[in-house]
Amino acid sequence: MSRQGRAGGLRPGVPFLLVHLAVLAVVAVGVSPVALGVALVSYLARMFGITAFYHRYFSHRSFRCSRPVQFAGAVLGAAAAQRGPLWWAAHHRQHHRTTDRPGDPHSPREGFWHAHLLWLFDPANQGTRLDLVPDLARYRELRVLDRFHHLVPTLTALATFGLGVGLAAAWPGLHTSGWQVLVWGFLVSTVALYHSTFAVNSVAHRFGRRRFVTRDDSRNNAVVALLTLGEGWHNNHHRFPRSARQGMGRLELDPTWLGLRLLARLGLVRDLQTVLARALALAATELSPRAGPEVANHAPPRPRPAPATGRPDRSSRPPRGPRPRRPRARLLPPRAPVPLEPPSSAP
Ligand SMILES: [Zn+2]
Ligand SMILES: [Zn+2]
Repeated sequence: MSRQGRAGGLRPGVPFLLVHLAVLAVVAVGVSPVALGVALVSYLARMFGITAFYHRYFSHRSFRCSRPVQFAGAVLGAAAAQRGPLWWAAHHRQHHRTTDRPGDPHSPREGFWHAHLLWLFDPANQGTRLDLVPDLARYRELRVLDRFHHLVPTLTALATFGLGVGLAAAWPGLHTSGWQVLVWGFLVSTVALYHSTFAVNSVAHRFGRRRFVTRDDSRNNAVVALLTLGEGWHNNHHRFPRSARQGMGRLELDPTWLGLRLLARLGLVRDLQTVLARALALAATELSPRAGPEVANHAPPRPRPAPATGRPDRSSRPPRGPRPRRPRARLLPPRAPVPLEPPSSAP
């Protein structure tokens, strides 16, 4: 089993604890509307880096993008100070392989606080298992980002401080300072990012509603979904892990999905994986005594023109014409562990 790196030369959790302690500096620097605004923007941007790229792209390959966009997404995720993309994706793939069973790095069955944050301090979780992320490890820039994962958060903190200094110099009426914008725009928002992200592992495996039958304890939790731009629809996610869209009900807001659709419109990402409405309807019957059959997760949202190679276009759409009869209901066998996504030939 190959592993890369440990904790970037620092004891596990030391920067994590320091960031929490540094939040106390809010007492010294005070607060201003502009500092709160920077904190909010910083939170939303970096959360999108975690949800869209670290989770839905690197961990689940739920869409495709070019190598420069892949790297930009990795940098945005790394700015959230949750280690590098390889480390994050490897642990998350392990979570899906063994969800709430022995081997899961962060199951609440071992304790709520273990799942929330104590697992981060376990020496067994410090290195990156490259055998779980061979499709990512072949990119040198991602390996470097993973190895020097403190670099991006450090530069982000410096940039935030510089922004505060600039704002204070240009508009003294804003009553802000470099330190104030640093504390709110980086430290407070980073701690908020930590606990919102961790809540997916702890809260969304214990509190909420289960729409689908899964072999784990995953739940749909609206509060966690709100804080994490849609990741709280976690039971949906464990049922359809490769879907780029996790909010599957009419009222299940999924801002990450909306952001990805915007990026697709701009041509920055493509081939967003979604679940066909028909498959979703069948899967929803799993909770009834008359359960539907297992269904595959596939289908990009729009058909693409046939490739120049002459091969048939495999993008699929619900067939037109009479609706197919629902297959005769039968009870589902226990689900097999979620397989790893196959290595992508090109991002
Ligand atoms: Zn989970
Ligand atoms: Zn996942």
